[in-house]
Amino acid sequence: MAPLTELSIDDLKALQAQLQTRYDEFSARGLKLDMTRGKPAPEQLDLANGLLSLPGAGDFTTASGVDCRNYGGIDGIPEARELFGAYMGVSPEEIILGGNASLTLMHDTVANAMQHTAWGKAPIKFLCPSPGYDRHFSICEHFGIEMVVVGMDEHGPDMDQVEQLVAGDDSIKGMWCVPKYSNPTGAVYSDAVVDRLASMPAAADFRIFWDNAYEAHTLEAAPAPLKNILQACKDVGNPERVLMFGSTSKISFAGMGVSMVAGSVKSMNGVRSNLKAQTIGPDKINQLRHVRFFKDIDGIHAHMQKHAEILRPKFEAVLEILERELGGQGIATWTRPSGGYFVSLDTLDQCAAQVIQMAGDAGVKLTAAGATFPYRKDPRDRNIRIAPSLPALEDIHTAMEGVAICVQLASVQKQLS
Ligand code: PLP
Repeated sequence: MAPLTELSIDDLKALQAQLQTRYDEFSARGLKLDMTRGKPAPEQLDLANGLLSLPGAGDFTTASGVDCRNYGGIDGIPEARELFGAYMGVSPEEIILGGNASLTLMHDTVANAMQHTAWGKAPIKFLCPSPGYDRHFSICEHFGIEMVVVGMDEHGPDMDQVEQLVAGDDSIKGMWCVPKYSNPTGAVYSDAVVDRLASMPAAADFRIFWDNAYEAHTLEAAPAPLKNILQACKDVGNPERVLMFGSTSKISFAGMGVSMVAGSVKSMNGVRSNLKAQTIGPDKINQLRHVRFFKDIDGIHAHMQKHAEILRPKFEAVLEILERELGGQGIATWTRPSGGYFVSLDTLDQCAAQVIQMAGDAGVKLTAAGATFPYRKDPRDRNIRIAPSLPALEDIHTAMEGVAICVQLASVQKQLS
């Protein structure tokens, strides 16, 4: 199809009428489809059902003799720290395991810093590469931390901007990063970005929140390589700069996974001392069950290939419909991720909220407008996060057709106005 800008007014009006008819017909179907959140589909969860009968009766003791049914072992059981240490690229001494949500660990890390360090003494800021993950932004809002938007491309955050901001402002104490298959753009941070983050001049208590939620979540034969930021930080003498987070929420069960925080031994000492005021020990049976189920890091990667087989056709469907309906018209761009849970769609400026509203009215619920930016304010009102994991393949076809009609209709209306 020709770019919209090359169409005459009459052609645009004819196209508008055609699209309006399609939209009305679509709405009349009375659909109720939901593409709002990146949740695993039931078939993905089924892959880990074996966990529910583990550990077997009488199997509750670690190799070192710890009785997992009892209190204690605040860092997590040794075999689980070894398994998830390998997953995060750190040694067992550099990782602590938490409950089912890494978000809790991130929240508590910020909360503790606000309560017990200089962070809480004066107003502070976080850098927020955007579009980004809405719940990171919610943590900042919750603690009154000012969010500073920085741009993103397929290699990660705009490092010129980041370096300039951080070097000139000591009140910037943190930065959110989703370094692999970023939410929502799918970007994988390049080695150069990792090195610059590790070495840039910044406040001594500046911390990178390295939320590697999608470390193994590839749609291809193997996960993309990602430079080890803890090692990079150690190499340049900034070992405490990074705190890494992860979980098995989208590997095993989102409601029964294992979360993890990793960093230098000194950083882990800090995490542990806060944790000791919160709990006498984590759910070690769940950790043991995960070790028995996955066995080793190869077991995790083999399992993630089964997830990829379920997710791949869903992502392909989204991309195929976007290309077929929107390709060549100059009205939208979108990402083609090689992993993670999202496709990030950019409409023409000032169209995203309208598209989301129209799609919702026609029975397709999308992530709220602005959600991928701090304070829910997308400065160009153009970003839409598409989450294809949960709906059935057939529903994705239907929903995406509806979304594509809305994008075209909003674009034609904009062009006409
Ligand atoms: N971090 C990112 C980037 C996510 O996209 C998500 C879930 O969508 C989470 C963290 C949530 O992780 P958890 O379930 O471990 O709290």
